[in-house]
Amino acid sequence: MIKILIATKNKGKIKEIREILKTLPIKIIALPEDEEDTVKEDGETYLENALKKAQYYANKYKLPALSDDSGLEIDALNGAPGINSARFLGEKTSFDEKMKKILEMLKDNPNRKARFKTVAVLYLPREKRYFTTEGTVEGEILEAPEKKEGSGFGYDPVFKPVGFNKSFSVLGKEVKNKISHRSKALDKMKEIIEENFGEAMK
Ligand code: IMP
Repeated sequence: MIKILIATKNKGKIKEIREILKTLPIKIIALPEDEEDTVKEDGETYLENALKKAQYYANKYKLPALSDDSGLEIDALNGAPGINSARFLGEKTSFDEKMKKILEMLKDNPNRKARFKTVAVLYLPREKRYFTTEGTVEGEILEAPEKKEGSGFGYDPVFKPVGFNKSFSVLGKEVKNKISHRSKALDKMKEIIEENFGEAMK
């Protein structure tokens, strides 16, 4: 059975990636709990950052590694926080603070249009090559966070996807994992994995 390492320390992402890939006959491996190495996400694009993360951990653990780099793009803020979504107001600032600030910045602005984007990368260390896919979900920023404890992560409480009347957090994993930026990117990656590793998965 082929093994794929999930090249992220973000527990919310790991949970979603596991859930989305669970239909594939592959062994999903997480980074060790005490993984000390971090990869500086200083690229100018989601692809650069995703590739850096996948490449680094794939070479370190000598396994195919899957990473994603994502962001929330808000039209009225010229696409911010975008590629800086994790670092907005500083990496250590809580998401409650980050969301509060975003709602203040958007105060009284009727243009609430926003989208989540993901670029996923699967890097193969032996072949020194990679596959990449993208996913986007359109939506809008709510007037106030709608948070369901234990459901979703990051900016989910303030994001309402088009066609729904609740936040990603309240909609829960069944709905989110069907329509999210991450699920769209990973569904395409699943096809790539099946096409390229079909025999090895038997
Ligand atoms: P990165 O992809 O690790 O650079 O982080 C992007 C940041 O975007 C995350 O830390 C979250 O803050 C945010 N983000 C990415 N995907 C999601 C999501 O599905 N829901 C909510 N926030 C997200």
